[in-house]
Amino acid sequence: MGRLDDRVALITGAAMGIGRACAERLASEGAKVVITDIEDHTGQETAAAFRAKGYTANFIQQDVTSEGQWQSVLADIDRLHGRLDILVNNAGIAIRKSIFEMTMDEYQLQNSINLDGVFMGLKYGIPMIAKTEGGSVINLSSVAGLKASPGLSAYAMTKGGVRLLSKSVAKECIAEGIKVRVNSVHPGIIQTAIWDKMGVPTDGENQVDVEQLATNAVPGGLLGKPTDIADGVLFLASDESRYVNGSELVIDHAISA
Ligand code: NAP
Repeated sequence: MGRLDDRVALITGAAMGIGRACAERLASEGAKVVITDIEDHTGQETAAAFRAKGYTANFIQQDVTSEGQWQSVLADIDRLHGRLDILVNNAGIAIRKSIFEMTMDEYQLQNSINLDGVFMGLKYGIPMIAKTEGGSVINLSSVAGLKASPGLSAYAMTKGGVRLLSKSVAKECIAEGIKVRVNSVHPGIIQTAIWDKMGVPTDGENQVDVEQLATNAVPGGLLGKPTDIADGVLFLASDESRYVNGSELVIDHAISA
């Protein structure tokens, strides 16, 4: 028996990185996973790799900034599986720029993915999950949603927003009698492609890679793996966390401690 047998899970931004690891971990416990991502080819490959392992996995291309695509993805899941139990709002980008360097176009792009995407996932996903016996939404925030992140100020703003949106919606669900728990997860420094896309910071004169960044910034120098986050997401998705709601799970090897 898996911990998520008969559950259906939607994971956004799951072609690679943390989202992919979450989808695989949920599938390994029996969930039927629907992977979405803006990256069509990689998403298809990821779903095919999961099916080759015997998991039930489908890929649907989705840009989380599109309201129409949120509605069509959920309609597709209804046609495929007739239910949704778990939503992991994972898709996100990070633009490494100070407030003085960032253009308004960059600011709005980052907000639209990291904040609007999560807002629409909650707005349209929760009513579908509410039709089941009860479910769970997990929103990917960051340590940057807990403490100042100079050079990433607008990213930190989005992740702080995800944290309080999660807590507020958790209480809105309780007030409406909706049996859907909403929690946020706060990774530290996890080895994924996001670090290449955002550009590594400089250390004085030198560019540093993500391993060096972890050595400098994480107590003990330990770089995180996507599976470290996926194990936390599995806990929040499963019935073992039935009393965990409106909460924040920090997985950062004491960066924020
Ligand atoms: P990642 O490796 O870059 O994967 C993110 C995936 O989301 C990529 O496939 C990306 O596609 C996709 N995506 C981007 N924009 C999208 C959109 N509009 N609609 C749908 N999908 C979209 O990133 P990650 O490191 O796994 O991060 C996952 C989440 O964890 C993010 O919310 C991130 O902020 C958060 N997080 C990560 C870390 C870390 O250290 N890695 C730490 C704290 C929090 P493209 O390749 O086209 O962008």
